[in-house]
Amino acid sequence: MITCFDIGGSFIRHGALQENGSVAESGRVATPGDDWNAFVAAISACTEDSHSPISISLAGAFDERTGFAEVANIPCLDKRPVLEDLQTALDRPVLIINDANAFALAEATAGTGRGKAVVFGIILGSGVGGGLVIDGKLVKGFGGIAGEWGHGPVVDPTAGGQLQGLEHYPCGCGQTGCIDAACSARGMERIHLSLHRRAVSSTEITSAWHANDPAATATVEAWATLLSRALSVLVNTLGPDVIPVSGGLANDGALLDLIDRKSRALVLADYGGPLVTKGRFADNGGLQGAGIAARLAFTETGA
Ligand SMILES: [Zn+2]
Repeated sequence: MITCFDIGGSFIRHGALQENGSVAESGRVATPGDDWNAFVAAISACTEDSHSPISISLAGAFDERTGFAEVANIPCLDKRPVLEDLQTALDRPVLIINDANAFALAEATAGTGRGKAVVFGIILGSGVGGGLVIDGKLVKGFGGIAGEWGHGPVVDPTAGGQLQGLEHYPCGCGQTGCIDAACSARGMERIHLSLHRRAVSSTEITSAWHANDPAATATVEAWATLLSRALSVLVNTLGPDVIPVSGGLANDGALLDLIDRKSRALVLADYGGPLVTKGRFADNGGLQGAGIAARLAFTETGA
């Protein structure tokens, strides 16, 4: 019985891979973020036997070439050879996949992108991430970072125009002006602070936007414009059939509609219908994607 995990900063969700390829979620436990031994014990306690493989979706960067993970909000995994250490500690095969890649794989295999050639799944939440699946195959790319469109210093406030009033937002990757820094939920809060000098949560901003509050509308418009500009370049580059969205902001249908309209207005192809849409696995893409990856890696037929 292959056990699958979705490991985030707060919780470890887990479940067993079913014969039909889905994962039946069986529970969640708090992530022991600071204690490696407690982390290993938590994983072990969620497995049904002592030798079957496990598959992990990890909310952080994972480099398959080195086996090292970078997970800032789970210190006991950060900058550690997680794959080797886990295989040794648990004495069983371990598969690790980045959570955005897991989500994209789930969407392309059994979600909004099923049967489509190019699926670019994106995460809009506390950060901005993404995963690319072409012809059913996850594109990992050099260093395993394909799809990570959130980083790169593309927001330049000195450009003026619609960027007037914004600031140089520092990003966790060490650069300034990344989409991750400006267009995540935290980014929306930073833009609001820049434009209106008020520190409020993204939830409060979008609620006020729904109520036609002018300040919130200005913030959301600027935020969505920046996001759509970056996304439009990717759309022209990759030619996705669909862009399923996961993450906390995916639950706001009006926000996704706004991004969809703005993005499609900037791209060369005429889609004639929605391109950016909430993913079928917006709430459990990590776990389901870990299951699909496990089926491909650990079963002979991949079916
Ligand atoms: Zn960055």
